[in-house]
Amino acid sequence: MIIGGGAAGLTAAIAAARAGARVQVLERMQRVGKKILATGNGRCNFSNTDLGVEHYHGADPRFVLPAIRAFGLDETLAFFRELGVVPHVEERGRIFPASGQASAILDVLRHELEHLGVETLCEMNVERIVRDPSGLRVLCGDGRAFPCDRAIVAAGGKSTPNLGSNGGGFRVAQALGHRIEPPFPALVPVKLDAPFLKQLQGVRFEGEAQVFLDGEPVRAERGEILFTEQGVSGVPVLQISRVVSEWAESGRELSLGLRPFPDSTPEALASTIAGRVATFPWKPVEASFIGWLNKRLIPVLLKEAGICDLQRPCGELSGKEIQRVAALLHLWRIPCAGVQSWMQSQVTAGGVSTREIDPETLESKRAPGVFFAGEVLDIDGDSGGYNLQWAWSSGHVAGRLAAVA
Ligand SMILES: Cc1cc2nc3c(=O)[nH]c(=O)nc-3n(C[C@H](O)[C@H](O)[C@H](O)COP(=O)(O)OP(=O)(O)OC[C@H]3O[C@@H](n4cnc5c(N)ncnc54)[C@H](O)[C@@H]3O)c2cc1C
Repeated sequence: MIIGGGAAGLTAAIAAARAGARVQVLERMQRVGKKILATGNGRCNFSNTDLGVEHYHGADPRFVLPAIRAFGLDETLAFFRELGVVPHVEERGRIFPASGQASAILDVLRHELEHLGVETLCEMNVERIVRDPSGLRVLCGDGRAFPCDRAIVAAGGKSTPNLGSNGGGFRVAQALGHRIEPPFPALVPVKLDAPFLKQLQGVRFEGEAQVFLDGEPVRAERGEILFTEQGVSGVPVLQISRVVSEWAESGRELSLGLRPFPDSTPEALASTIAGRVATFPWKPVEASFIGWLNKRLIPVLLKEAGICDLQRPCGELSGKEIQRVAALLHLWRIPCAGVQSWMQSQVTAGGVSTREIDPETLESKRAPGVFFAGEVLDIDGDSGGYNLQWAWSSGHVAGRLAAVA
């Protein structure tokens, strides 16, 4: 019995059925795999050519290793190729279906489930798993009970509850006596404490985002950064958001450093500004940056650098003022105000403690016969295909071993 028809649950169902088990999937939504359709901006970044353990997080990130060794990149590509999906590798090793459609991934999984005779029951909200003399019984909110020999909990975390995962898997695990590492949203836009966000909403730039905890740099990522109504988003921001989310309520000082020119020194930037000023000293300060910086960013940056009269000729800028603008372009530190909600987060950090799960089989050490797979466990990955890869790897291992256990 598979609880949850997401990426991990559907893979587990296929692996278990191929190993000879009679398999049923219980899904609380009207359809299985809703979240798969939303992945990778509708294109589904389903794996990555670099599956290093450093891309995984949780109390014990090395927990992923046995499953990824058993069902890693080669096995994942072979699995999907066999189902008809041609992989296409993009920058930073990210892998998408060549058709560019997330629905392709869900379609081939559904066709294979049908072909294998797996029964999928939707609108079944599982609340508990209990043990009785004949085996396990999976209990739903509407009072229905499903007897089974083995159960795989693949009910996801708490992110984007509109797509199905609402923390129900944690409650099922807790009722079995499992410890839940406190969940918090990850891969989520970061909120900033700054007065100028309305002015900058929609501005994008290529650069680096770096998170500082009590003034110490923790993690930096490069790519396109986007200002939003409440802060910043974009892949580099999502990547570093885990640190902000984890420490948001701790009372420690969190700030984000934005670097529009991560490869330039403050001196080089000051010399570029001085060069522009010398070319057209008669232009208003504000206009002197046009063509180099995003137009909407200019007045905000100048004000942050303490230059309030934006109409005075730029030739009047002092060396100190030029240095202050250059310093900001080198590293613009803005206080963080936490992260956005579960609804905006792509993955859940925290979850069922991996200490109580056998990493080789993914079977519970507390409740024999019950297995766990996917995001419900205290494992979360970076953006780049790592979370789906964890779902495929853990789903496959749990499904195959639950069938033969
Ligand atoms: C917008 C978005 C984009 C993303 N893009 C990517 C990407 O491109 N690449 C990547 O690697 N990862 C991406 N992710 C993350 C990735 O989708 C998830 O980590 C992955 O889908 C987790 O799979 P899962 O099967 O463990 O959980 P889920 O996909 O959440 O599936 C869990 C299923 O269980 C069901 N369920 C929950 N509770 C119960 C219950 N009590 N009873 C019965 N059923 C239940 C849910 O309805 C759901 O169908 C993205 C996430 C989001 C939200």
